[in-house]
Amino acid sequence: MSARPSALITGITGQDGLYLAELLLAKGYDVHGLIRGKNNAKQALVEAIAPGTVLHNGDLTDLPSLVRAVYASRPDEVYNLASMSYVANSWESTQLTTEVNAKGVVNVLEAVRLYTDTEPQGARFFQASSSEMFGKVQEVPQRETTLPWPRSPYAVAKVFGHHMTINYRESHGMHASSGILFNHESPRRPVDFVTRKITRAVARISLGLQDVLTLGNLDVERDWGFAGDYVEAMWMMLQQEEADDYVIATGQTHSLRDLLDVAFGHVGVDDWSHLVRQDPAFFRPAEANLTLGDASKAREVLGWKPKVTFAELVRMMVDHDVAEAAHPIG
Ligand code: NAP
Repeated sequence: MSARPSALITGITGQDGLYLAELLLAKGYDVHGLIRGKNNAKQALVEAIAPGTVLHNGDLTDLPSLVRAVYASRPDEVYNLASMSYVANSWESTQLTTEVNAKGVVNVLEAVRLYTDTEPQGARFFQASSSEMFGKVQEVPQRETTLPWPRSPYAVAKVFGHHMTINYRESHGMHASSGILFNHESPRRPVDFVTRKITRAVARISLGLQDVLTLGNLDVERDWGFAGDYVEAMWMMLQQEEADDYVIATGQTHSLRDLLDVAFGHVGVDDWSHLVRQDPAFFRPAEANLTLGDASKAREVLGWKPKVTFAELVRMMVDHDVAEAAHPIG
């Protein structure tokens, strides 16, 4: 590695990309990011949160743009965080999801392989895999060896990207690692995701700006952690001598009812039953079952463990959304 390491992040405008850029800048990296389109509205966000980041135009579906971005940033580490990440939309946008989340991973791997073959230093690679790959879970808790059983087009594409990452490691000797990431949230989670939908609605209800919150299945259980902790695990994986795959999870599961309890409790509402409606329209065609991760390998090999608890995470998100609803921007 050069004196000042360089990293390229795809998906830099997303939740994890922003946290990872902040982390790497704090560690003294030159940070580069791939951004879609000439007038991406989120460019200002990247510049505000991660000043000094160099942005390169590109798209996961466009191999030449990835090759250009990799050669221009001369990275020691490439983090592939870009994806079509709305599981619920993936039944409607199956082809696009496949192009980005499956074939897009091959494109990034190929760009990194070309660079590593032609430049003596080469680059290490991280792939953001997902606990959604376990869908119809074959064992509880899920670990690196658990058989995948994807239950959405998003998850099927993620399984492809995951195994392609392993294949490039085994076939081409690349330092390619994959984090099997369980759900992780933050105040930067888009409002289309159920956790943020809840914390935003709770904030607005507490301020008298909204009457009710409509949700799907309240009994869905997930293993939810804080995004800031998860990007640290990504970085730790690329510091290892050997590339490998790691489950990144809290090892604790909570239902949406638990989330509602903490969120409403934080704004002084103990009984939220009259404020929440259930609508079957929000149920998924095929729901993933109990996802619960066993991150003992990450704990033992990487020395990683989550720092922010479930209740702290939910309260952090509600506080952010109360402040935002009380003082809207623009
Ligand atoms: P996110 O906030 O939805 O961000 C997705 C990013 O991908 C955005 O920067 C988006 O750019 C970019 N992107 C989408 N399509 C692209 C394309 N065709 N070419 C280039 N960039 C494209 O996702 P996240 O929550 O940060 O998650 C990061 C990664 O972890 C994703 O791969 C996700 O699937 C995976 N993951 C996340 C979780 C979780 O709980 N958050 C769990 C498991 C796995 P635009 O701004 O241009 O749209």
